Amino acid sequence: MSQTNTTGKRKIHWLNFFFLTGTLVAAAVGVPLYLWVFGWDWYQFALFVLFFILTGLSITLGYHRLYSHHAFEAAWPIKLFTILFGAATFQGTVIEWASDHRYHHKFVDRDGDPYDVTKGFFHAHIGWLLYGENRNNADNVRDLLADPFASWQKRYYVPLAVGMGIVLPTLLGFLYKGPVGALGGFLIPGIARIVFVQHMTFFINSLCHMVGRRPYSIHCTCRDSWVLALVTFGEGYHNFHHAFAYDYRNGVLPWQWDPTKWAIWILHRLGLVWNLKKARPEAILLARLHVLGETLQAKLAQWRQKAARLPVSFQNGLFQVESTLARWKDYWSNPEKRKELSEEILKTAVRELERADAFLRRLDRVRWASTG
Ligand SMILES: [Zn+2]
Ligand SMILES: [Zn+2]
Repeated sequence: MSQTNTTGKRKIHWLNFFFLTGTLVAAAVGVPLYLWVFGWDWYQFALFVLFFILTGLSITLGYHRLYSHHAFEAAWPIKLFTILFGAATFQGTVIEWASDHRYHHKFVDRDGDPYDVTKGFFHAHIGWLLYGENRNNADNVRDLLADPFASWQKRYYVPLAVGMGIVLPTLLGFLYKGPVGALGGFLIPGIARIVFVQHMTFFINSLCHMVGRRPYSIHCTCRDSWVLALVTFGEGYHNFHHAFAYDYRNGVLPWQWDPTKWAIWILHRLGLVWNLKKARPEAILLARLHVLGETLQAKLAQWRQKAARLPVSFQNGLFQVESTLARWKDYWSNPEKRKELSEEILKTAVRELERADAFLRRLDRVRWASTG
């Protein structure tokens, strides 16, 4: 529900407004000023990177994949660590965060989705926080309300956030270089790092629903982008994530850049996390087959109208795409038929449809070359 006052204007959430704009301005002005006056400092830079990784991973591995989705189970040191360093990002308690996030998955792209991207980039990125709209109730996080770590964090959230996110980096700066080091610690691994981690998370809600491809689901705006994965600890493979939210991986292919999945895997080898959930390979291939089938069918319908104007070689290519699609149509459009498919047959089907898709992409480029 939107919060509006009697004049119909949107109501600003002043605490969020001052915090989000204040930290942004302090980082943008304070950090260059500090570096100008006191010079470049490798210690502060290293502390920034360390805090960025520890707090960023606490969001992606902890708040997101562990607490919001239960993609794996973790020993208490991991739960405690991600609770402490997650608080240091000032993104709210894990209970609030997970509640918003679960509503996002449930109602994606429509009312009820707190960061619904169909309301625009600004709303999905930060507007929903500035206006404090769409705050849902906590019915969907009863499990976390009963979790000792999450409820402990809820009780002591403000001292934990300030202590871990601001006091700790300031103190580490002070131990290194007295008051000047403390100021640097406050500004660089403190405030600037908070801004960076916040906008990294915000990009997952905004750009990851706008930029990239949709290989596993075309029923939501969520997209896979390796560029965004680079700056979001692997969360940029957001299309796969929405299709298989319970999977501990977002970059499902082994080479896809997903440091969060690698961190989970290493913790698993160390015996600190277990019961890593993975989607069945057949389910992933079926999702791929379904997307390829639907998109190819739509593209083919467009090309059919122009087929007569194409050179014969392209017409033959289109005919082949059509027969490939017809060969597999029953399998991607008929749920009963799908059950008959083995992993091997699915792989063949996906490979054939990907080849057909590549041909149509080539055709698109030729058209651009000839018209442009
Ligand atoms: Zn999303
Ligand atoms: Zn999620």
